[in-house]
Amino acid sequence: MTPNHLFSTLESHHNWLITTHKGPDGDAVGSVVAWAAYAAQCGKNYLIVFPDQPAAYLCPFLEGYNWKVFAADQTYSGDLLFALDYNSSSRVGEVMSAWFDNQTLPKVMLDHHPNPADFVQIPISIPTACSTTEVIYHVLEDLGQLERINLAMAKGLYLGLMTDTGSFRFPSVSAYTHQMTAHLLSLGLAQHEIHEAVYDVNSVTRLQLRGYAIAEKLQLHPAQRLGIMSLSKEELKRFAYQKGDTEGLVNVILSIEGYDAGVFMMETEEGVKFSFRSKGQRFVNAFAQAHFNGGGHQYAAGGFYAGSLKDALAKLESLIDQI
Ligand code: 5GP
Ligand code: MN
Repeated sequence: MTPNHLFSTLESHHNWLITTHKGPDGDAVGSVVAWAAYAAQCGKNYLIVFPDQPAAYLCPFLEGYNWKVFAADQTYSGDLLFALDYNSSSRVGEVMSAWFDNQTLPKVMLDHHPNPADFVQIPISIPTACSTTEVIYHVLEDLGQLERINLAMAKGLYLGLMTDTGSFRFPSVSAYTHQMTAHLLSLGLAQHEIHEAVYDVNSVTRLQLRGYAIAEKLQLHPAQRLGIMSLSKEELKRFAYQKGDTEGLVNVILSIEGYDAGVFMMETEEGVKFSFRSKGQRFVNAFAQAHFNGGGHQYAAGGFYAGSLKDALAKLESLIDQI
């Protein structure tokens, strides 16, 4: 599965540039951390370049690593470029994707999103993997490198597994996921610490924002088994919104008995950001792609609407039977 020339490419390049998608989530940060720690294990130089600032709760995982937020007027030198946890250069945002596409150095993608674009020389795509960190583990196994996994790598690998599987509950979790997890725990990984660092760091305003969204802003469509939640800029401001505060909120909709699709919409300076979630026989990525300039996985997709929240909601409501 892993192409033979990946190993020789890794061996012969010593300055790795490691990137991930905009709005990095736990799998994005977990992947870059694991890969950077692997680079260090192999005696390589590396630099992690994020398209934008990771949410505060993820920054502790980056302590001790070389990382920067991309700036168009800076130069980033390396001899091998990695795209982790994304399947097209557009996912790093307009400014950074122009930089990415202009780079002449060899590029490697490690990812689990379906339908990757043709944007790197060495694409490694495993859409059945539950997370990109699982893809990394697969690759290391294929390369005979599992013994190189140390505690630092294990932390990143586990962070991606835990966050992209809803704490090991989604259908994407396999026996392989648990075998991998067992290996990580055998290295001395304290998994409860990772859980607490991600899920027990709520601010009071964050919890209040979530309570408000559920109590006041949840629109239920029982006939469609669908719930929609939306938050305006003003509402976000009222609850001192910080990046990451609405992460996972959309999943609350799926926890309502009899509901198998949820949409969360958030107004930003640029337009409206969508999160789609589903379960069972229902898939949301095609809908996100067809109507809201997005895409993603069958059960978790995102999208964008360049306009007001009111118009975005009206468009969504007009399409409600197609979700
Ligand atoms: P979230 O709702 O957490 O922002 O995104 C859920 C999933 O949807 C992500 O893991 C990613 O696969 C996908 N996704 C989010 N936003 C976009 C987008 O703008 N374009 C595409 N193609 N996929 C997206
Ligand atoms: Mn992922």
